[in-house]
Amino acid sequence: MALKRLSIEQLLGLNKFVVDDEEAHILLDKECCRSCITRPCTAACPAGCYKAEKGEVNFDYAGCLECGTCRVVCPLSDRAIVWRYPRGGFGIQFRYG
Ligand code: SF4
Ligand code: SF4
Repeated sequence: MALKRLSIEQLLGLNKFVVDDEEAHILLDKECCRSCITRPCTAACPAGCYKAEKGEVNFDYAGCLECGTCRVVCPLSDRAIVWRYPRGGFGIQFRYG
């Protein structure tokens, strides 16, 4: 029996994410982002949490995979991003093995 091959979107859709409405685990300083020309976070985040819209970068931590990629690719990460893991009981639960 052949196994069905799932797309990235289908695999991501299997995950469960418990949103912490009281405390975001990643905070963005949008003032810093205004001076960022290349905005690599918008292309590198596998969950599409960063979006360039109307001349600025918007961020939504819901759906974050906690991979840390944005922190690595950001040229201003020491100022632009405050990155932590979510509090206990919140965040991503991977469900594809
Ligand atoms: S790469 Fe860093 S500074 Fe540039 S837009 Fe993204 S979060 Fe902001
Ligand atoms: S940690 Fe990974 S999934 Fe979460 S916002 Fe950063 S790049 Fe995206």
